[in-house]
Amino acid sequence: MKSPDSGNCQAMKFESAMSDTEYTSSQTNSTPEHLVSGVPTSLSPQEVASLVPMPALLAQLGFMVNERTRRSQCILCAAHNPTTFSWRPDGRWHCFRCNAGGDRIGLVRGVLQCGFREAMRVLCGLAGVADPKNVEFRGPTPEEKRRLDRLKRAAQEYQILENAEQLRQTDELRRVERLGMLAADRLLHLRSGPQERFCNEEDLAWDALTLSHRERVPLLAAYLIMSFSSEEDRQQFVLYPRRRTKLIDDCIWRGGVITDTGAFVELAL
Ligand SMILES: [Zn+2]
Repeated sequence: MKSPDSGNCQAMKFESAMSDTEYTSSQTNSTPEHLVSGVPTSLSPQEVASLVPMPALLAQLGFMVNERTRRSQCILCAAHNPTTFSWRPDGRWHCFRCNAGGDRIGLVRGVLQCGFREAMRVLCGLAGVADPKNVEFRGPTPEEKRRLDRLKRAAQEYQILENAEQLRQTDELRRVERLGMLAADRLLHLRSGPQERFCNEEDLAWDALTLSHRERVPLLAAYLIMSFSSEEDRQQFVLYPRRRTKLIDDCIWRGGVITDTGAFVELAL
């Protein structure tokens, strides 16, 4: 962890670096009237942040920017893995090593170890919004508040669905594996001599073993998808039941799933 002092120092260095480099954005040349120095802006902090393109922000903060993979090393936890930090053009980001994540404002605060106002000063500078020292941000409108609440609720509901699906897939897999084991045990036992307990017991045990074997592969694939695959694949699996067959087929065809960090988890048959 950096001490608050070294954080401030870093923020100051960053600021001077910003004034040294001739950073220009599309906003710089035509500052809207309501953003003139000293006048309260009609933009919310999120709106100001959204004016800064992620590649430009990441580059300013010291990340190696790869716009194709949208992956890089994580400055927050000084990870050397070049794919551990993942970002999206809409400003969301996540590090799969230190588990930090958030929006543009959170990223600036995390990297520069600074508070909200300092982070907004930096973002205003990058967005070309007036004199960042004098900008007053407006709070969220009632409509924005309601939208945020709706999003929070949806995220909570989704998390419940995902957990339930993960448990269901684990249970199904265990059930089928147990059936296969019981059938195999019984067949071995019958071979050693005892009579069938009921007519056609051996045939039934073979059927159960076949069924368990046939069901196990797609169930194992579904279990792998829900437990290890990328966030995007898990969401597809949970939210769109019609796409499950294709996800399972892909997993079987590929022989495993690819995790969010790019690692491969093998489908061990
Ligand atoms: Zn990290």
